[in-house]
Amino acid sequence: MTFASLGLHESLIKAVADAGYETATEVQMKAIPLALAGKDLMVSSSTGSGKTASFILPALERIIAARADTTQRRDRAVVYGPRILVLTPTRELAMQVAKAASTYGRHVQGLRVATVVGGVPYPAQIKALRGPLDILISTPGRLLDHLQTGKAVLENVDMLVLDEADRMLDMGFIDDINTIADHVPAARQTVMFSATFAGHVGRLAQNLLRDPKRIDVSSHTDTHENIEQRLHWADNHNHKNALLDHILTEREMEQALVFTSTQRDADWLADRLAEMGHAVASLHGGMPQGRRNRVLQGLRSRQLKVLVATDVAARGIDVPSISHVINYGLPMKAEDYVHRIGRTGRAGKNGLAITLGERMDTGMIRRIQQFTTQNIPVSTIVGLEPKSPEPRMYAPRPGSDNERRPGGFGNRSGAPSNNRFSKPSFAPRREEGGFAPRRDDSFAPRSAGPFDRAPARRTEGGPAAPSKGGFKPARPRTGGFSR
Ligand code: AMP
Repeated sequence: MTFASLGLHESLIKAVADAGYETATEVQMKAIPLALAGKDLMVSSSTGSGKTASFILPALERIIAARADTTQRRDRAVVYGPRILVLTPTRELAMQVAKAASTYGRHVQGLRVATVVGGVPYPAQIKALRGPLDILISTPGRLLDHLQTGKAVLENVDMLVLDEADRMLDMGFIDDINTIADHVPAARQTVMFSATFAGHVGRLAQNLLRDPKRIDVSSHTDTHENIEQRLHWADNHNHKNALLDHILTEREMEQALVFTSTQRDADWLADRLAEMGHAVASLHGGMPQGRRNRVLQGLRSRQLKVLVATDVAARGIDVPSISHVINYGLPMKAEDYVHRIGRTGRAGKNGLAITLGERMDTGMIRRIQQFTTQNIPVSTIVGLEPKSPEPRMYAPRPGSDNERRPGGFGNRSGAPSNNRFSKPSFAPRREEGGFAPRRDDSFAPRSAGPFDRAPARRTEGGPAAPSKGGFKPARPRTGGFSR
């Protein structure tokens, strides 16, 4: 289906054509006509499905209609505050949505888009909030701050979008969302995106939406056909590093996103890879926003080849040249695995998602397989085969695990896994997201480079420094950001 047949304004059709899109994706096909008709929507669609355009295009359509209306009216009263409010769980996703709004709204004259997120100074945000504004994209915590000080004007919002609502609730934003929604006119249109509408998310939808239409184009059990998944078993930490080093130097590796479980591991691993000559940086919630933006810019411009990130920071990254996602540290929740692998295979490209598992990760890998109802095929690299016997896995049983049931995602209950290989895990500190920002006083930029990346060797914290023997280090490159 073409965008023209969806009933969009010609300036939006032109922008979509400029972006190179020929046909609408499934979620766009289903959501755009209903959103244009003013319906409230509950949408489940997987990452990379084109969901951002499915709400930004109808939002822009509203702005175009409002402009036409005010130019015809004599009084031409200035409208303060945004007409469209988009709430996202993380700063990165907010930036991504803002970028999409500018892309799709490039032919909408004088379009005013602002982001209000945590970790950046208040004054510029206050100025943007009080002036005329078309689209405001915000994380709930910071917007609430501005509401409480009376700086945010939400009385002219006529469309409210909640992106990744399940994630926002996971991060503890439920009260913030309800308070924000109370400040938005009741007559608004509300569109909510969430992987699930079970449990608390379903109740939030009931509170916020009026007679919603449900759109479910995919689920976590999607096969991700353009993403090849592989599992490499590692005997120990050194073996895992050797596998990573090999993968990062393969010829088909364009750009890699390497996930760690903790902020500390992300810094440690980025340091280690920088020492080996990779153009690498880390990205996590303990870093100041300016630096996070610079890192993302470096990734987009391909000056960085490897990004080592935690789950929260990587959410929303949309860089089509990421050819590899590597799970160096396993995620805390099975659903995060799906978000992680969705960072590759973007915009119709093929991607490779590689999990490096140690024996202690068996329980989590099993939970991931139950959640996605897919087996992750085991793979080996010649010369780097594991010496220990492969841990025994059970075939995923669709529908039989609590993680497949509403509210059962990722074994949130914390119930111990019954897998015989799983051990009580040592969890240094996993990044939990924006609701309780980590006050990491020990964090200090270690160099003055563009990404403040220094090859500092850490002696305290992080996994034990790997021995240099036993595997061939990558040939040092002379990338501008490796040091
Ligand atoms: P999203 O699910 O919104 O994160 O979008 C995933 C990716 O698909 C982004 O890189 C978009 O630019 C791209 N995209 C969105 N809509 C289309 C479309 N109709 N055709 C091709 N690519 C698209």
